[in-house]
Amino acid sequence: MTGAGFILAINLFMAGLFAASFGIIVLYDKRRQAARWFALGYAVGMSTILFEFVIATLDASTFMSLAAFGSFLVALAILNVGIARNYSVPVPWVAMSIIIPIALVVCAFTLEMPRQSFVRMLAYQSPYFIMQAMAAGLVAQARTRKPLDNLLLVLLAASALQFLSKPFLFGAFGGAGETPDLYITTSYAMFSQSMGTVFAMAIALMLLVILVRDVLFDADERSQTDSLSGLLNRGGFEVHAEKMLHDADRHGMPVSLVIADLDHFKSINDNFGHSAGDIVIVSFSTFLRSTMEPHHLAGRVGGEEFAVLLTGANLVSARLFAENARSAFGALSIEGLPPVKRVTASIGVAERGTGETIRELMGRADEALYIAKRSGRDCVKIAPRPGRRWNDEHGTAVSLG
Ligand code: GH3
Ligand code: MG
Ligand code: MG
Repeated sequence: MTGAGFILAINLFMAGLFAASFGIIVLYDKRRQAARWFALGYAVGMSTILFEFVIATLDASTFMSLAAFGSFLVALAILNVGIARNYSVPVPWVAMSIIIPIALVVCAFTLEMPRQSFVRMLAYQSPYFIMQAMAAGLVAQARTRKPLDNLLLVLLAASALQFLSKPFLFGAFGGAGETPDLYITTSYAMFSQSMGTVFAMAIALMLLVILVRDVLFDADERSQTDSLSGLLNRGGFEVHAEKMLHDADRHGMPVSLVIADLDHFKSINDNFGHSAGDIVIVSFSTFLRSTMEPHHLAGRVGGEEFAVLLTGANLVSARLFAENARSAFGALSIEGLPPVKRVTASIGVAERGTGETIRELMGRADEALYIAKRSGRDCVKIAPRPGRRWNDEHGTAVSLG
């Protein structure tokens, strides 16, 4: 086997390996559309390599050359669909479906030109250049890009330029062989195939790493999110809240915590059914979201218990927030419950003391919530500062001083 033939064999193996790897990601996360397209793209890429084997050994017809050319172009187009899906940007269906047939027709005509012709090489490589440049353009359109995405962008742009450089470089390597079957014996083929391999592998690896990064990120997000309300769950709330406390410390900002528990929730389940109870939980979560500012953090920290961390809020403004929320929610009629039925919440509020952790802060807000429940529900109680005693054991007259 010649050197370039050997590279073809390695290419075939590597493309198969990558197609399988993307396929495995699809098995783990069926909703990851991009991985499906990447798997298909590398599988179609394998067919290009098979066509090139056939050309080199059995049948060097124009049809086979066109099949090799066209299948690689289609593989690049399929990768573009995956990249567009991955970055949630529009798929350039129209542009790609115009480029592919035009490229095939131009290639069919120019294939008959002398193999050393610059025009022939340009006609062969330009569509690859355009297709790969489109891929870089798709990544560039992404709304947010992390360092790995920028690296992919650079790689795709370099790969596009590599295709464009070939017509200029192939003369320097002594041409592409007198006949198609001799192509594989030339040092140009050696150079062209190995450059192609390096880029195809680097891009595939980068796409794999990016997919794995996104899968891990999503899994982390899911593990921190409550599926019913869409709010953070207790674990997620604590993780994000600790970060916010840390930031508030750096900026010397006050932080307060509001904990709300729906009143007599068990009786809602008992009287109207568990699904009506679920609707109430969703309604309260939606309501909380509508009252929050971007610098607030909300979580469902128990069955019918919710926490909102207010950065920049002292006890006075946190209490105002809680009072407004309590009275506004208590006035809402809830879909799925009788129109006159109102659901109320009891609320505890605490302002963070110096160096207090989120758990300690939640503990104090919980105590205030307990007092609110004991005071007849549908009310807001505030916790005394850390280390201070409740002014009144029923919590009805807590000083803000
Ligand atoms: P209180 O006013 O003292 O808070 O009384 P309560 O009935 O609201 O509190 P309790 O702790 O006695 O009951 C809470 C109920 O919430 C019990 C539990 O079955 C129900 N619950 C917890 N999670 C869910 C949920 O996701 N959906 C529904 N429908 N009910 C839930
Ligand atoms: Mg309750
Ligand atoms: Mg409760």
